[in-house]
Amino acid sequence: MIRDPEILDALLDNISRFVRERLVPNENRLAETDAVPPDIVAEMKSLGLFGLCIPEEYGGLGLTMEEEVRVAFVLGQTSPAFRSMFGTNNGIGSQGIIMDGTPAQKAHYLPKLASGEMVASFALTEPGAGSDAASLATSARRDGDCYVLNGTKRYITNAPEAGIFTVMARTDPAAKGSAAISALIVERGTPGLSLGRIDRKMGQHGAHTCDVIFEDCRVPAENLIGGVEGVGFKTAMKVLDKGRLHIAAVCVGAAERMLRDALRYAMDRKQFGQPIAEFQLVQAMLADSKTELYAARCMVLDAAQRRDAGENMNTEASCAKLFASEMCGRVADRCVQIHGGAGYVSDYAIERFYRDVRLFRIYEGTSQIQQLVIARNMIRDAANS
Ligand SMILES: Cc1cc2nc3c(=O)[nH]c(=O)nc-3n(C[C@H](O)[C@H](O)[C@H](O)COP(=O)(O)OP(=O)(O)OC[C@H]3O[C@@H](n4cnc5c(N)ncnc54)[C@H](O)[C@@H]3O)c2cc1C
Repeated sequence: MIRDPEILDALLDNISRFVRERLVPNENRLAETDAVPPDIVAEMKSLGLFGLCIPEEYGGLGLTMEEEVRVAFVLGQTSPAFRSMFGTNNGIGSQGIIMDGTPAQKAHYLPKLASGEMVASFALTEPGAGSDAASLATSARRDGDCYVLNGTKRYITNAPEAGIFTVMARTDPAAKGSAAISALIVERGTPGLSLGRIDRKMGQHGAHTCDVIFEDCRVPAENLIGGVEGVGFKTAMKVLDKGRLHIAAVCVGAAERMLRDALRYAMDRKQFGQPIAEFQLVQAMLADSKTELYAARCMVLDAAQRRDAGENMNTEASCAKLFASEMCGRVADRCVQIHGGAGYVSDYAIERFYRDVRLFRIYEGTSQIQQLVIARNMIRDAANS
């Protein structure tokens, strides 16, 4: 749903200009320094990027899902680590509070997240619980007016920068499965919370992950999201449903950028006396990429429109994430191929993108987990019909 096409177009124009004039020229600096330059962070704040999806009443732009994916198509066209800087504030870090938080939790945290004053992280994964997130072992034992947290969370995006963590923990350590999992907001600086060393990653340099460790970390009971125990896993799954669609849209943006660069290269680069773009075998790679990209874009928009219309789009979100992230990987591979040797050395952006986009098939649910979600829903629907 687009609320006001003129306002959205103005926003998209502004963000496109920012991507083109400020982010793309700083991609190498981002990768080399492994940090988003502070002047760029300040500009992101002033453009409202930290609050894109936070409701207007808390200082954000309150984008609908369709508006959000259209923005992500644009933001995806530069190094993904730039988007990651404010991605958790709009997505997995804040959505648990937006969807299920108490009025007091919303009023306290959302304005700070929307302005970028505070960064939010989402802490679900553990050393022993990745795809099987419901088997998580971090415990949150009630003790008076506090919960006492113990456990380790792994690969937590923006943990080194985060002011708050949405942590999924087991409030009934004896119970198995998802029913005993609750979501809690834990503030940085809480005694008993510490961070591991920053992970050295294959790509997306400038976006940081690390372990988040809880050792008898006492968290006020009022930080239990929604004030209700045992519904944290449901909160996490709702957050991921939305997040998957956002990542699918970023994949579309990244593929558009890679393909545009590859097309330009193919039109410039001459072999056998003519531009390589005139060879039909190169054209096949361009055409297959364009076709798959178009399909992914249509899927993302359709799923976003369904979500805005209030439909359950759990299956469509997984279909979009699965197809768009795998498509992005295939496009990256073909674009390296079109660049030949130049695609393997770091003078061209494609070498970096090839590594950066590999993550999209892994986080917020691997491709195999998306397949399981889709098939499980198909079987359930058929059994109920
Ligand atoms: C850079 C980065 C950032 C991340 N950010 C966050 C974050 O902010 N917050 C957070 O909570 N997590 C985060 N994650 C964690 C991420 O979501 C997990 O890595 C991902 O869900 C996979 O879990 P895993 O690594 O334990 O792999 P595993 O679950 O061990 O999977 C390994 C392989 O087995 C396959 N597999 C597992 N189960 C099945 C099955 N039932 N059927 C078929 N195949 C299966 C998987 O698809 C995969 O191919 C991040 C990870 C990375 C690398």
